[in-house]
Amino acid sequence: MISKSIVVLGGGIGGIIVANKLRSELPSSVIITLIERNKIHTFAASYLWLMVGLRKAEKISVPVRKLISKGVNIIFEEVKKIDTAGNRIQTENNEISYDYLIVALGAELDNKFLNKVQDGIHNFYSFDGAQKLRDELNKIQSGEIIIAIESLPYKCPGAPYEAAMLISDLINKRGLKNKVSISLFTPEPHPLPVAGPELGKSVSDLLVAKGIKFYPLHQLNKVEAPNKTVIFNTDFKKAYNLLIVIPKHNPPAVLNNSGFSDESDLPAGQVNWITVDRNLLETKFKNVYAIGDVNSISIPGRWHPDKPMKLPKAGVFAHSQALIVAEIIKSKILGKEIKSSFCGDGFCMLEAGEDLAGFAYGDFFASPHPDVKMKRLGKAWHLGKVLFEKWWLSPTGMRKSFYKFLIRSGAKSMNIPIKL
Ligand SMILES: Cc1cc2nc3c(=O)[nH]c(=O)nc-3n(C[C@H](O)[C@H](O)[C@H](O)COP(=O)(O)OP(=O)(O)OC[C@H]3O[C@@H](n4cnc5c(N)ncnc54)[C@H](O)[C@@H]3O)c2cc1C
Repeated sequence: MISKSIVVLGGGIGGIIVANKLRSELPSSVIITLIERNKIHTFAASYLWLMVGLRKAEKISVPVRKLISKGVNIIFEEVKKIDTAGNRIQTENNEISYDYLIVALGAELDNKFLNKVQDGIHNFYSFDGAQKLRDELNKIQSGEIIIAIESLPYKCPGAPYEAAMLISDLINKRGLKNKVSISLFTPEPHPLPVAGPELGKSVSDLLVAKGIKFYPLHQLNKVEAPNKTVIFNTDFKKAYNLLIVIPKHNPPAVLNNSGFSDESDLPAGQVNWITVDRNLLETKFKNVYAIGDVNSISIPGRWHPDKPMKLPKAGVFAHSQALIVAEIIKSKILGKEIKSSFCGDGFCMLEAGEDLAGFAYGDFFASPHPDVKMKRLGKAWHLGKVLFEKWWLSPTGMRKSFYKFLIRSGAKSMNIPIKL
């Protein structure tokens, strides 16, 4: 009888997939424990629709327990300490030893611009934020809506652009096209720099066609709340009625003193994303893996002389990395040859409003730079995103069959050359 303990930290996209996959592939003598602080899961990709009133909050929320297969132990507590030297995890009330550890703790949002609703500053990167923003978007009658990216990296590189186009749609539907203006500011040279200038231009053309003003190479620096003015690193200032900030993303604070990175040259209390082997997703510690937003993977290419490329933080990668790590751990435990390896392929359905979406896909490990293409806008891509949402939020029982349906009738029939 094989007796091992596998611990998964974080029950978001990566954690749910890896725990379920391991449970379906390994004997019950292998104990799988998932630690997650929230009992309710909300599907982040749907925050965009929530923000513009196309989803109700309860329709994109589901108890975590319903998404996790039977036979996975769930501890609903905060992870307090990761002891990589002693192979132990400490939570508020428990201490759990592991033979294999998967860190899937995601990214934390910096609170400098969070919860500043009284200053007219909103966000759609949190569940609460998207709901408060929806109420404001329904109230605004005239003036300036500014969307500003505080810093890089942020998860889902398409989301700010999708948000701008969905908000534009809403403003048009409310008959305010000539009264409300929308501007988007980003430190990036063009949208989705990782996908190259050509694809970036296709996205900025979409913005321009919708009358959205686009300001690349403008990083949010300061907000003067009393006179509702936002100031960028270029010293450019702009007054706003409604400011939507994509907040700075930080590695989870619990990584502090965990040994994953050398913290000696970092300011006190600051931590790094976890570096992993880009194919096996193993950290510098044996049998300890990091998947999804919490990891940092260098990829070929540069979008700026001193800015090397990193694999974007996105659910699609958390998902595929989870499947790979589950296969690797299974092989190790069952004493089989490891055949799985993360290949860097990914895709994204980019919402463009009016029930249309683009489909960007490609090989992010391609050299000398990622090879990413975008298919023309179409209703099918939008429908694909809706179907994926339905699949994700359905309870475990029907998830498998619906996934098969999705894969068979969707991606495969479109003959898209990605290996996931
Ligand atoms: C508005 C928006 C739209 C998006 N759209 C898309 C899209 O269209 N396509 C796409 O691919 N991606 C999209 N994403 C990105 C995607 O949601 C993330 O990349 C994905 O969720 C990352 O998965 P993860 O498992 O790494 O982290 P998460 O899903 O964030 O999960 C991390 C989990 O860890 C838990 N946790 C953290 N710290 C602790 C702790 N100390 N103790 C216990 N639990 C803890 C959290 O509660 C959370 O449940 C979008 C994101 C946003 C915000």
